[in-house]
Amino acid sequence: MTKTSAPTTSTIDHWVSGSRVPGSSGRTARVHDPATGQVTAHVALASAAEVDAAVKTAVAAAEEWRSASLSKRAAVLFSFRELLHARTDELAAIITFEHGKVLSDAAGEVARGLENVEFATGVPQLLKGGFSEQASAGVDVYSLRQPLGVVAGITPFNFPAMVPLWMCANAIACGNAFVLKPSEKDPSASMFIAELWKEAGLPDGVFTVVHGDKEAVDALLDHADIAAVSFVGSTPIAKYIYERGTGNGKRVQALGGAKNHALVLPDADLDLAADAIVSAAYGAAGERCMALSVAVAVGEVADGLVSAIGDRLPSLTVGAGSEPGTDMGPLITREHRDKVAGYISAGADAGAKVVVDGREREVPQDGFFLGMTLLDEVTPEMTVYTDEIFGPVLSVVRVDTFDEGLALINANQYANGTAIFTRDGGAARKFKNEVEVGMVGVNVPIPVPVAYYSFGGWKDSLFGDTHMYGPEGITFYTRGKVVTERWPDPATSSVDLGFPRTR
Ligand code: NAD
Repeated sequence: MTKTSAPTTSTIDHWVSGSRVPGSSGRTARVHDPATGQVTAHVALASAAEVDAAVKTAVAAAEEWRSASLSKRAAVLFSFRELLHARTDELAAIITFEHGKVLSDAAGEVARGLENVEFATGVPQLLKGGFSEQASAGVDVYSLRQPLGVVAGITPFNFPAMVPLWMCANAIACGNAFVLKPSEKDPSASMFIAELWKEAGLPDGVFTVVHGDKEAVDALLDHADIAAVSFVGSTPIAKYIYERGTGNGKRVQALGGAKNHALVLPDADLDLAADAIVSAAYGAAGERCMALSVAVAVGEVADGLVSAIGDRLPSLTVGAGSEPGTDMGPLITREHRDKVAGYISAGADAGAKVVVDGREREVPQDGFFLGMTLLDEVTPEMTVYTDEIFGPVLSVVRVDTFDEGLALINANQYANGTAIFTRDGGAARKFKNEVEVGMVGVNVPIPVPVAYYSFGGWKDSLFGDTHMYGPEGITFYTRGKVVTERWPDPATSSVDLGFPRTR
């Protein structure tokens, strides 16, 4: 087995004021290599007092950073971009070591995060306001976008580099200090990113990492000096973060879970659809918020689709993500693997047809492995359909018509991503207009928007008003201000007690 580089210490510290700072709470959590099941490190879990100390350094840093010129900020962003690009393989190895996803997937995650850094290098252009000369006689009006101060990001285990990069690149470019609370399950990627920010010339305290669990999260949500919170994670926690954060007067964007459907019409290119659905259902072991977990087969396409998908699964390899040639790695924890396996049993008990059973896949090493599972004849009341499983389980729901499929998708509580597979432009157009989902693919299975658009779902997949990154990220991390300005001109000055009108 090829070894990936392990974190250098067995204790993972916080990152405060540009340095590693050991935890003092006395509480830690275990970090695993999911491919072996071994404990590889212990990560510090911050107390509220440690969060407070870290935020204080961020407050001081934010004061100075907001005054840094746009050229200076852009220069730091460009350096950071170069370092991240040059060290992609190292970061990918760290991700694979703690998350389990295959190396090529981890490198892809870094590449998509890098796009957000590239977008943020354009901050001088992005923060340009409007200017109206002579809005009234002798009066000019212009708009500014100013930083919020200290903003926090709370991120999930499944993208330990990309999701923090979605947030921090724009937040920092806009002149804020950023405090990251990464997932305690795979915390090392955030420390690597912190080192790169420092090397890029970012002043100490502008990027902070506090590790922790609910205690640290609550301390951030309640902290008077945190102006805004970006969250990505499961729906119950997203709702909680939104309610507690906004209750404390903070700006909050909280992205939640998903149940993404692919609608496959009878005229679809079956090979393209099957390849795309297999890739999007089982990539990263289904632990993606944009994974396709339901294929909605319309009419006579169902039998062909199920066999085309089923035929592709035996040749895909399951093993350690660091092993060259592996297609799918393990799940994040033993408990999660067992929970996903429980859903397969529940689906079978409820009457779903188990076409391929991932529980039977043998993997010649310990670790949190589960093979790819394909369930046919799933119906909407089964838990395999209603719940976000977040594992390598694809459910096929058979419907008779396009309208029935569309109605099924629109009735779902989640609305992150969806895709239609068809050759019919009219059907695709109707689908993209009428589907109540935030991100839509047309013959594209994972429609994650490029960095110059914004990412976000609808309904229970997002709490808040702004989507993440791109133009909406810039809006989220800044406050608008409009200046109405007149300069003394002795020739026109006079006393006028009336309400100011434009002239
Ligand atoms: P999670 O909700 O368990 O954890 C996310 C973050 O919240 C972590 O930092 C965690 O420490 C913290 N947290 C967990 N429980 C908490 C509690 N009780 N109080 C306060 N904070 C708490 O999510 P996860 O398992 O790490 O990630 C998987 C989930 O994230 C899936 O539901 C997936 O769909 C979702 N996700 C969504 C998107 C999106 O863009 N919509 C992207 C990636 C992942």
